[in-house]
Amino acid sequence: MSISDLLSRGCTPQQMLNSKWWEGPSWLKENPESWPVSDIICQPKEVDIEKRKSKLVNMNLTEDTHPWYAERVSDYDKMIRVFTWILRFVNNCKLVNGKCKDSELSQSEIEYSEKKLIRLVQSYYLSDAKSSNFIETFLDNEGILRVKTKITNRNDDRSFLYPILLPEKGEFTKLLIRTVHRKNCHAGIHMMQCLLRERYWIIRARKAIKNVLYNCVICKRFKIKSVSSEPTPLPPDRVTDCAPFEIVGIDLAGPLFLKNEGKVWIVLFTCAVYRAIHLELVNSLSSDAFLLVLRRFIARRGRPRTIYCD
Ligand SMILES: [Zn+2]
Repeated sequence: MSISDLLSRGCTPQQMLNSKWWEGPSWLKENPESWPVSDIICQPKEVDIEKRKSKLVNMNLTEDTHPWYAERVSDYDKMIRVFTWILRFVNNCKLVNGKCKDSELSQSEIEYSEKKLIRLVQSYYLSDAKSSNFIETFLDNEGILRVKTKITNRNDDRSFLYPILLPEKGEFTKLLIRTVHRKNCHAGIHMMQCLLRERYWIIRARKAIKNVLYNCVICKRFKIKSVSSEPTPLPPDRVTDCAPFEIVGIDLAGPLFLKNEGKVWIVLFTCAVYRAIHLELVNSLSSDAFLLVLRRFIARRGRPRTIYCD
């Protein structure tokens, strides 16, 4: 028995004190030369069986899923405003003797910080973006990467002629698409492409928009089809050609209260094939009263072949 078993399997304090735990084996006190020597027999197969099998998972994270500026924010406008407040704080900290700005955010401040954030995103994702046969890019005087479109001779808004280049991935583009989608009453892919193209040129825009729209919970709720079951065929009695009131269903409606405090019921005869109805009045729920009603019905409409009744 190994002395370490004593602790791992539990013992009383007295057992512990009397044990060899404090001393170890007796040969340990002698010279190392006189320690017992034994050959280590190792069987690799046996060892392999005992080895714990671990699963190895490789994960390559190429981008941080939530960059700091998009953390805890699910709206594009809010992200820009938060970023503007951060810039305001940094600028206030830089002031030595000047008065700190504490007013509401101005439009120019918001526009400035939006451009700064776009530059940040472009430098992260599009640092190696080059002009190709399809798009020609250039840096404008504010340092923003823009696309030179073929409609530059048109008299239109500058952002439309030279849209801002944005990457297809990244939280910034995702939030932008989501917010435009929400502001335009959950517009579809084509409309989203047109709306975004007015200001931005998103690389593989269709795919990026599709991804965001696919994850939109509201769109999912309205697109889902309700569960439907196959309509069951009608029973033969409902579809066979026959005379009116040949197959009837009988039911009672009421009671109706009369002026003289009496009660009456309506006996409803329904033709199963033509859905025609015949009404009779009965002033009692007794069998005799019902038989009279049935006789009146037969006298008027003919004898039914089948009667269904609860
Ligand atoms: Zn939606």
